[in-house]
Amino acid sequence: MSDFLQTPIVYLKGVGPSRAELLQKELEIFTFNDLLFHFPYRHLDRSKIYRIAEIDAATAYVQLRGKITQFKLLGAGRTQRLCADFTDGSGLLELVWFQGIKWVKESIKPNKEYVLFGKPSAFNGSYNMVHPSMEDPEQIQEKQYQHIMPLYSCSEKMKARGLDTKAIMKLIHALVVDVKFEMPENLPAAIIHKYQFMDRKTAFRAVHFPKNLQELTAAQQRLKYEELFFVQLKLLRYKMKRTQLVNGIQFEQIGPLFNSFYQHNLPFDLTNAQKRVLKEIRSDMKRGIQMNRLLQGDVGSGKTVVALMCMLMAIDNGYQACMMAPTEILAQQHLHTVKELLKDLPIKVELLTGSTSAKARKQIDADLQSGALQLLIGTHALIEDKVQFQNLGLAIVDEQHRFGVEQRYRLWKKNKYPPHVLVMTATPIPRTLAMTLYGDLDVSVIDELPVGRKPIQTIHKYDNNRLHVYGFLKQQIGLGRQVYIVYPLIDESEKLTYKSLTEGYGSICLEFPLPQYAVSMVHGKMKHAEKDFEMKRFIKGETQIMVATTVIEVGVNVPNASVMVIESAEKFGLSQLHQLRGRVGRGADQSYCILMSSKELSNDARLRLKTMTETADGFKIAEVDLKLRGPGELEGTSQSGILDLRIADITSDTAIIEQARNDAKELLSLDLNLEQLQHQALNRYFAMYQRNAKWGRVS
Ligand code: ADP
Ligand code: MG
Repeated sequence: MSDFLQTPIVYLKGVGPSRAELLQKELEIFTFNDLLFHFPYRHLDRSKIYRIAEIDAATAYVQLRGKITQFKLLGAGRTQRLCADFTDGSGLLELVWFQGIKWVKESIKPNKEYVLFGKPSAFNGSYNMVHPSMEDPEQIQEKQYQHIMPLYSCSEKMKARGLDTKAIMKLIHALVVDVKFEMPENLPAAIIHKYQFMDRKTAFRAVHFPKNLQELTAAQQRLKYEELFFVQLKLLRYKMKRTQLVNGIQFEQIGPLFNSFYQHNLPFDLTNAQKRVLKEIRSDMKRGIQMNRLLQGDVGSGKTVVALMCMLMAIDNGYQACMMAPTEILAQQHLHTVKELLKDLPIKVELLTGSTSAKARKQIDADLQSGALQLLIGTHALIEDKVQFQNLGLAIVDEQHRFGVEQRYRLWKKNKYPPHVLVMTATPIPRTLAMTLYGDLDVSVIDELPVGRKPIQTIHKYDNNRLHVYGFLKQQIGLGRQVYIVYPLIDESEKLTYKSLTEGYGSICLEFPLPQYAVSMVHGKMKHAEKDFEMKRFIKGETQIMVATTVIEVGVNVPNASVMVIESAEKFGLSQLHQLRGRVGRGADQSYCILMSSKELSNDARLRLKTMTETADGFKIAEVDLKLRGPGELEGTSQSGILDLRIADITSDTAIIEQARNDAKELLSLDLNLEQLQHQALNRYFAMYQRNAKWGRVS
């Protein structure tokens, strides 16, 4: 990095101690380099002059050309302000100054033409503009750079102290245009050539002060690419190094258990997607390199059976396998499913959760260490240090979004060689986000549902239609189906939502009385045994309605349940709604998802509900979710720091992400340690980049 760019910001012409402090506090700009990375959020084409008559409520920054006809000094003391009538022939706009009144009166002349720039706001039925910037049209001609003017974000505090978008523009201009300094290239020449990128310094100049829109786009492309390239280089290098350094267990054979299961136990044909994914996992596990794979598959796509078949591969090769689930209910359900699928295959399976008795636990520990216990299913209890395997070969983590990355890696310590790790999730992660967020994992996708599934009909109903909805539920129950009714519960300890759940339960019991109907309830505050009891009653069909909180969200599988009612659906996030809906549609019957909401909906909530009624595609839903919430809000991303992007946008720059990833992969496959001559500059930059907490802050 050139030392010059590391100069503290206070030394920049026009900054000084008080502005420097403001820039540090408000924008985390400490050095010249940081200022360069304060990219404009948008540019204004100053070749366009608006007419006053064109201004409406949607108008943002505009440029006008006209004359002031008269000044008025209004108010007194602290409310004193200077107003002016400004006209361009098409209409009248009031200009207002609260500060610098004396200066304005002295330097701005009535009846002289000015080009005025600012943001109009509606006031008393017409528009005004507070503190416009006024320029002599002739001077503008000279200031070439301002033709496409950058707009910068700045806080209210900064504006109040005169450090507005225009002041920032002047500072950056002083730096990139007026000062001479070197900015070494950080991309390999081959890549620069491949994309015909402009050089680095030009890109920084042009991203702030483009000569034309074409140049702006080219500069943005280069800087976005650069940003994403280094993210990928870091992730991929980490991954490739790990696979080189860490020996993996080798599953050499497909053995008798797997074959017997495939021939005799598998109750259906695998979908093509399931087969493909199994092949991918199989080839990972036999090459002697530790597997770290993310298996994505929409709810109901059949991940469990894939998981089981992978565990059989491990057991056939003399290793143990385990599967972790985020909740006790789900762990039990997995145990149930697995036992049912295995039938009489000679495999010892046990369940280990927080509520396993001390006695049972003792036996499990002994059997794990002797190797007699081949397959262990459980909750977080599985990764406690005291759980010791004889030779764990494969660990499967279901619904990983509830398991932290750290927990995932605790699994590594269970063996001399780390076991293969397969992380399964039904939370659809848009491809590009997965490439960035889980860039160190390999990804397999089950993108196909088993045949014969009927699409779930999704309907949005307002609360005042509740009686109709109840009528519909009765009709469905009359046909022998079962129903979930879910209440939002953001925080299990939250009193209010708990109340709405129990109240809801009360009114549902009234509406669906015994002996004709039976209603179950499950929520996070119940004792485990109670929960279990209620869940089992529902699974057995002894109750027709399950009133629940989102504990039901993950993985629960009751094929006869064909209606999902979600109360206060506007309070749920999109991915959660999608997960909940995935609890139905698992059997042969037509299934329904009914989203109940009040009539007062925010725009976002309306879009969420609309998306749910329009599509069942988990990936589409995830895309909308990503757009609505931004990547920072998505589970697991906020801590990652990986998405601390300064210029690239993970939702819209998908093509660049793919290019950058492919290029980084190719480069590393030839030169993992970046030792070749042509990678020296890259190597220097990369070393600094890795040291830096804030990824963008390297010149
Ligand atoms: P998820 O991917 O959401 O964990 P599950 O593994 O619970 O899905 O599978 C959902 C349902 O689909 C289960 O009842 C399972 O037996 C069934 N299933 C899985 N694969 C197939 C298949 N290839 N054909 C038919 N049914 C399948
Ligand atoms: Mg599942």
